[in-house]
Amino acid sequence: MQKQTITTRPIRSLEDALERCQILGMRVSRQRRFILELLWQANEHLAAREIYDRLNQQGKEIGHTSVYQNLEALSSQGIIECIERCDGRLYGNISDSHSHINCVDTNQILDVHVELPEDFIRKIEEETGVRITEYSINFFGYRNQQEG
Ligand SMILES: [Zn+2]
Repeated sequence: MQKQTITTRPIRSLEDALERCQILGMRVSRQRRFILELLWQANEHLAAREIYDRLNQQGKEIGHTSVYQNLEALSSQGIIECIERCDGRLYGNISDSHSHINCVDTNQILDVHVELPEDFIRKIEEETGVRITEYSINFFGYRNQQEG
């Protein structure tokens, strides 16, 4: 199946994200802007519930439904990232393919751009017969030094 590919540069800032909304013909409501601003400030992966709590703590009034609907719209358009975890969905500001460092002790997920050597990818392609177009690696570790 041919997937529609829009060859646009990756979103690297809040301004890029807002611009992408406009290109895609998405209305940038106050609430939508609040969510994008928060994700770009926080620079971490947050659950809808946390996004709702933080915005309301900042005095930015937004309803539950609005948070969920906007997150759904933004992630389905590829403007934000959505990670499915067993305990729910998390949303992040980086939407193009990237890798994650999962901190086992703090439960945080950090974004990292990892580039594998070309010959390594070729080797996997030869072994599997699959042409690799993108990849994402999950690293696991401890953020805090383990005291011995
Ligand atoms: Zn991420």
